[in-house]
Amino acid sequence: MEKKKRIVIALGGNALGNTLPEQQLAVRTTAKAIVDLIEEGYEVIVTHGNGPQVGMINSAMIALTHEDSSQPNTPLSVCVAMSQAYIGYDLQNALREELSNRAITSIPVVTMITQVRVEEQDPAFQTPTKPIGKFMTATQAEEVARKYQYIMKEDAGRGYRRVVASPRPVEIIEIDTIRTMVNSGNLVIACGGGGIPVTRHGRHLQGASAVIDKDFASCLLAKELDADSLVILTAVEKVAINFGRENETWLDRLSVKEAEAYLAQGHFASGSMLPKVQAAIDFTSSKSNRTAIITLLEKSREAIQGKTGTVFYT
Ligand code: ADP
Ligand code: MG
Repeated sequence: MEKKKRIVIALGGNALGNTLPEQQLAVRTTAKAIVDLIEEGYEVIVTHGNGPQVGMINSAMIALTHEDSSQPNTPLSVCVAMSQAYIGYDLQNALREELSNRAITSIPVVTMITQVRVEEQDPAFQTPTKPIGKFMTATQAEEVARKYQYIMKEDAGRGYRRVVASPRPVEIIEIDTIRTMVNSGNLVIACGGGGIPVTRHGRHLQGASAVIDKDFASCLLAKELDADSLVILTAVEKVAINFGRENETWLDRLSVKEAEAYLAQGHFASGSMLPKVQAAIDFTSSKSNRTAIITLLEKSREAIQGKTGTVFYT
């Protein structure tokens, strides 16, 4: 029998929704898209983002400290861990149910709480860029900044939000366990929210105040698992140049060289499409015969059949 092609699927915000009830509903559609690929004969590993969820958990934990002064503040690394468990719980159940609906009984589903190492010297720690949590007034923002040393930034005229560092992932701590579980036929959800950011101090791993970009963590995971393809599922069917302008052009196939040129010309917005394109370039050029696809969640089956999406190749 031919070896199954291995794909890492990175789920974006629209695969999960913004609230608890939204997530319960969204994961049903997401599970269908993932099981479609399993039915197509692929071996699948799932990763996901956590922007809205980690913000929500962070706000809830801040509210707790306001309510009960004996409760110390919850580190961001712990909030990421909570988001992995909460999202994993819903995804795991939705996948289990969808597999069972299609009479696939041989694939157990599991969520791995994953730590991802970052460098303490990463310059990202000096310039936090990733906004999380709810919008606040200037007075509220000053208060949390003073109380918890949070860095607060005005966000496009909509109020103040906490911004956190988004360092690059360098090592997946639980990679051996993830590999073992994948190799023995489990459907594994790992590196959720980019992974729990940690720095190494001798034998000790210390939680870092950061949120890693899930696109970069997914790329690292795909390389570590020697995947054939990295599939980034998001809110657009294809990548565009001149995005949102009159001369907007959607791209079908994109060589690494072309992608790098468009990237240098500033076609991909930082914080949204840029990390995806960077991850796609990195994965595709890391070894021969590796491809990356960026497409819409609902189009994943068609995209993997080569009918849509933006495909990156060397
Ligand atoms: P996710 O939650 O999936 O990571 P993001 O919102 O971070 O989603 O990124 C996807 C978004 O990037 C798209 O919905 C689109 O609005 C935006 N985007 C920015 N630049 C481009 C581009 N050049 N081509 C396509 N989409 C783009
Ligand atoms: Mg994103």
